Amino acid sequence: MEYQSFLIKYAEIGTKGKNRYLFEDALVHQIKNALKKVEGSFLASKESGRIYVQALGQYDYDEVIEALQRVFGIAWICPMLQIEDKDFDHLKHVVVDYVNQAYPDKHFTFKVDSRRADKQYPVHSEQMNRDFGEEILKAFPETRVDVHQPDVLLKVEVRKVVNIYSLMIPGPGGMPVGTNGKAMLLLSGGIDSPVAGYMIAKRGVKIDAVYFHAPPYTSDRAKQKVVDLARQVAKFSGPIPLHVVNFTDIQLYIYEQCPHEELTIIMRRYMMKIAEEIARANDGLALITGESIGQVASQTVKSLAATNEVCKMPVFRPLIGFDKQEIVDISQKIGTFDTSIQPFEDCCTIFVAKHPVIKPDLERIHKSERKLEEKIAQLVRTAIDTAEMIWCD
Ligand code: ATP
Ligand code: MG
Repeated sequence: MEYQSFLIKYAEIGTKGKNRYLFEDALVHQIKNALKKVEGSFLASKESGRIYVQALGQYDYDEVIEALQRVFGIAWICPMLQIEDKDFDHLKHVVVDYVNQAYPDKHFTFKVDSRRADKQYPVHSEQMNRDFGEEILKAFPETRVDVHQPDVLLKVEVRKVVNIYSLMIPGPGGMPVGTNGKAMLLLSGGIDSPVAGYMIAKRGVKIDAVYFHAPPYTSDRAKQKVVDLARQVAKFSGPIPLHVVNFTDIQLYIYEQCPHEELTIIMRRYMMKIAEEIARANDGLALITGESIGQVASQTVKSLAATNEVCKMPVFRPLIGFDKQEIVDISQKIGTFDTSIQPFEDCCTIFVAKHPVIKPDLERIHKSERKLEEKIAQLVRTAIDTAEMIWCD
């Protein structure tokens, strides 16, 4: 069967009532963005509270479904027939033909659910249900009616045109990106942070990202890996501006001045500070990290508290209660896993101490950071001012 149109059913509406149109407009916008990358020409539109996608000419069905399945806010994708000729006898033929093509195996139970949104239409919905049902039973005697738990729920909606559909393909759920502000993702080359970005984007938040790079200790390949990950997350979130910050001088300075077992915590505190400043300059309202309690020494509750202390913005840690395997499962589902496991060095692993503190004492950390007073402000300034922005789409 060749479908030229799709009815898009949306998920949860966080912004109910007056603001509902904002949600719908954002969803249409994101659908258009997603379909730009698919070969063919498409129309996405909103009509009396419903969202439709129309293919204008040839297109690849699987590609369209795949693209729509990455648009947050979509609950269901329903491929449908749109019929302009509303003549009732003609519709009976169309319905039978639809069933014939959509379901090669006729051993199923069904129910017809008609709606007469066009109140001028001469046939009432009850009668449509009965007549279409009869036609289907007559044409395919193997089928049966089941009004309680049908295998196939056939919808026939009489509006300006007639919509016929029965297939419901699940979308990703969530909220359309752009309906809930913007946040800055601390994106490393690991497994966790791309998943964290995906999860926050799923709630409608636009994503910017920052990567701390330490050349020559970390290579261009390590940086390319982060760009690749940002591109993969962008398939769901829309384009991500990735700020690449040269962190080498800051790391070396901390390494020179501070106790080595505190290196990771102090470095992470500077990452958060810098990320927050770049976020603020770009209208970001929050930070996102891939941290999960207890995963490594720098993610014990005490370490998280020590890292968090430097931030004024809320820090979203969507993976905080997840086990590693649960995070891996999501990264495989969203397609970032294979890139994440490529073996490139990470700036945190190079300067890592043999025995990092697992219960950092804030007073001691403050004392160590005082040893940085002479140069750190200038180094942070330079790192921010020389950050490179890479557009990941
Ligand atoms: P990931 O798999 O996301 O790298 P991880 O388990 O390796 O996480 P850490 O290295 O402790 O954990 O990093 C914790 C979080 O800090 C990461 O999830 C990420 O959000 C951020 N982060 C770590 N290193 C960097 C970096 N070089 N650039 C940007 N953010 C980073
Ligand atoms: Mg990491």
